[in-house]
Amino acid sequence: MAVIEHLGPEYKVLALTAANNYKLLAEQINKFKPEFAAIADEQCLDKLKDLANSEITEIDSGQQGIIRAACWPDASMVIMAQSGFSGFESLVKALQAGRVIALANKEALVSGGEILQKMGLLDTSRIYPIDSEHSAIWQCMANSSCKKIKKVILTASGGPFFGMTMDQLRNVTPEEALKHPNWSMGKKISIDSATMMNKGLEVIEAKWLFDLNLEQIEVVIHRQSIVHSMVEYIDGSIIAHLGATDMRIPIQYALTYPERKESAVSDFSLVGKNLTFSAVDTDNFPSLGLAYRAAEAGGTMTTVLNGANEVAVDGFLKKQIKFTDIADVVKAVLNRHKAFQIETVNDIIKADQWSRKEALTVVGELRKDEDLCR
Ligand code: MG
Repeated sequence: MAVIEHLGPEYKVLALTAANNYKLLAEQINKFKPEFAAIADEQCLDKLKDLANSEITEIDSGQQGIIRAACWPDASMVIMAQSGFSGFESLVKALQAGRVIALANKEALVSGGEILQKMGLLDTSRIYPIDSEHSAIWQCMANSSCKKIKKVILTASGGPFFGMTMDQLRNVTPEEALKHPNWSMGKKISIDSATMMNKGLEVIEAKWLFDLNLEQIEVVIHRQSIVHSMVEYIDGSIIAHLGATDMRIPIQYALTYPERKESAVSDFSLVGKNLTFSAVDTDNFPSLGLAYRAAEAGGTMTTVLNGANEVAVDGFLKKQIKFTDIADVVKAVLNRHKAFQIETVNDIIKADQWSRKEALTVVGELRKDEDLCR
């Protein structure tokens, strides 16, 4: 919302949504006076109506309300930033309605990239990435033919537990995991950054957004988060995107594309900064390898990877399992899954539900083991 405010009256908010934060949504409704607003959690509808001015804004709730917002007529762009697979259905509907999407919800592409492609909906000329690495790659690719690309190099900060061993990682707490060194983010993505599953999801996201083979996607640790990602061309040139670690930059670029406008981000200097790059420690952070494995298998396997990871992260946040159990849960569920070809959106939904159920079972088994050890 800070970006929209900065850009001024040329940009008008037509519809707004939230998961369950009715207070913030009410504040935004009263400030931006959209035509429509929806809150996903139906239990919050009455509280939202109490706080929000509904003279100008029609207020709805539930998944239907979210989809109405995603397909709102006259909107020239839809910003999709739900957390997790919950964003998939509205992404499908918005693409079917012909909308241009500014996409921050990577899980929808991880779970459903393949079916979107089969349905002819993966039209990347109208999916603008907001994820900072993908925005960086998008900008490094400007005016270049994709055919001339050797590979893309995604940078990873390494998260709050960089350098730690599996033994040390075993007892880290959700509070510690939520403290990211460079970026301020939501809970789910902060835990994903700590396990490095976030980078695994981003590898799969890049595959679909930029039509790449997995061999063309490399991940390097770059602790300073100044280089947001790079593209290496077939002639050996590497083009990088650098700048402050401020999400307003990729969000604004998606909104103003193909133009660039002045932003509210403060001046950034490279003087006195060091840029270092190193390989990922895949022994102590196995999640990235699991993501590559799922992406190689294809079909429903990445849907299952994502669903199991969402459940495992939730279990860790609720202190039901340990940090290192997150990757173990995902691995166990991948091992139990026989990937099948995806024919319909329903196949994705079924695979997602199956993986969540399996993951809950594995989380339950781990809790039992833990209790026996006490
Ligand atoms: Mg990112």
